[in-house]
Amino acid sequence: MNKTQTTGEQGTRNKTKGSGEIERFEMYIDGQWKQSASGRWFDTKNPFTGEVWAQLPHADETDVDLTVRAAHEAFTSGPWASMTASDRGLLLYRLGDVIAANAAYLAELEVKDNGKLMVEMLGQTRYLPRWCQYYGGLADKVEGSVTPIDKAGMLHYITHEPIGVVAAITPWNSPLLLTMWKVAPALAAGNTVVVKPSEFASASMLGLAKLFDEAGFPKGVFNVITGFGQDTGRALVEHPLVQRIAFTGSDIGGAKISESAARHFKRVTLELGGKSPHIVFPDADMEAAVKGVISGIFAAGGQTCMAGSRLLLHSSIHDEFLEKLVARMKQARLGDPNDPNTDVGPMATEPQLEKVLKYIEIAKSEGATCLMGGTRAQRPECGNGWFVEPTIFSNVTNDMRIAQEEVFGPILSVIKFDTEEEAIQIANDTPYGLAAGFWSQDLQRAISLPKRLKAGTVWVNAYRVVSYMAPFGGMKNSGLGRENGISAIHDYLEQKSVFIKGKSEISNPFTLQ
Ligand code: NAD
Repeated sequence: MNKTQTTGEQGTRNKTKGSGEIERFEMYIDGQWKQSASGRWFDTKNPFTGEVWAQLPHADETDVDLTVRAAHEAFTSGPWASMTASDRGLLLYRLGDVIAANAAYLAELEVKDNGKLMVEMLGQTRYLPRWCQYYGGLADKVEGSVTPIDKAGMLHYITHEPIGVVAAITPWNSPLLLTMWKVAPALAAGNTVVVKPSEFASASMLGLAKLFDEAGFPKGVFNVITGFGQDTGRALVEHPLVQRIAFTGSDIGGAKISESAARHFKRVTLELGGKSPHIVFPDADMEAAVKGVISGIFAAGGQTCMAGSRLLLHSSIHDEFLEKLVARMKQARLGDPNDPNTDVGPMATEPQLEKVLKYIEIAKSEGATCLMGGTRAQRPECGNGWFVEPTIFSNVTNDMRIAQEEVFGPILSVIKFDTEEEAIQIANDTPYGLAAGFWSQDLQRAISLPKRLKAGTVWVNAYRVVSYMAPFGGMKNSGLGRENGISAIHDYLEQKSVFIKGKSEISNPFTLQ
């Protein structure tokens, strides 16, 4: 693990450990900046340098309880509880403006934390305000309805009410984006939120908390606590005042959260992993498809849930396509994520580096052919960073572990197919169902194939496209529920059915009315 425990002093910025300034971030609880009750901190390392750059408070059950109670208080009384939906929407708009003005600051924090490329992060952080605007605009457009109820003299209407305290638990690969997918609809609906970011990438969330503060959200509405999954995260999920859990992470973590939520009848959405197929048919635009495949698996070093980690190539184009792909990827530049010319950055965490290297050995031992890469990257421009050479394995069969298990790194498994039926069968044959993509200029195929692919998102002649307007989530082991789009706000609302009778008389109290 790249996290170590220390006992810290008061303050937000300390000089420690000789190699430069180490920042200390405090948690954002009830509108205040706080250390943990125990005074414990944990380190976070920069994936490009391998050095500690910041420390975060390690929250325990006491901190979790304090935070959830503050969020509950903000939900039940005070300015947020009585605010109109229109005013909540305006606050979200204001937050969007503040984020837009601070997009570079947020991107800088996330690059230091998880090694994502600055160009990618600037794109993401400049896109975040759209979630504020979309759900801010939606806040006062959630209408109830009046039913033509089958009871004489009675009015019946359906109304939508916020649920309560929402726990948002996020992974290290895109903390801000994945948080915004949860927080924007949750707040638009009138809930309050406690975010627990990954122990490997928490700083950007505290950067975001500063912006909530600046935008003027009432205290207790948005809170961030930091710590590890098995203690801080678990305590948050199990807190009796948490009513709704929105989780993005591994299927192992998702299963634990789902079990806990089931025991306490809490509503939950789970955005989990994937082993997404990326199919290239012989009638595809080859140049575009090569770029698409690269964006699917090598962008963000393959550390995306939607990574197109299985490339299904038709046998008639197999060799030619791979030649083009390998030639292009051999030119890919690894190195400093802040350099705009870098194509592939480091693995975000040391355990992830080890996991990816382990899967490379598994693929070799299973008999896959390593066409390029297959090692830790030792290029001078990679320094002490946690880099893996972009790796392509051919001669993969779909029953190999490298084709069935999520690696979450720059490792592409290439599988040959002969017919469309065979491609569909291979594409659907994993425990996952998050995303799928295919390249073809056949209009009929573009129309008919999406329906046959067991995946929450299908891209045709495109890959790795997301939008605040487009529902995203998985089938099978890739999760439960969807984020984004209009329907997401309803996942943060409860329906209430109200019957009103003007005249108070009951003819026979011993029968159903
Ligand atoms: P992880 O499951 O290890 O951790 C995710 C978060 O859950 C972290 O904040 C962690 O501290 C917390 N956590 C872990 N166990 C917990 C528990 N028992 N109770 C409460 N909280 C707990 O995942 P990770 O390694 O951080 O992220 C990588 C995974 O996330 C990959 O599998 C990837 O596919 C998935 N992911 C999915 C999506 C999606 O939208 N479907 C998006 C990004 C990442």
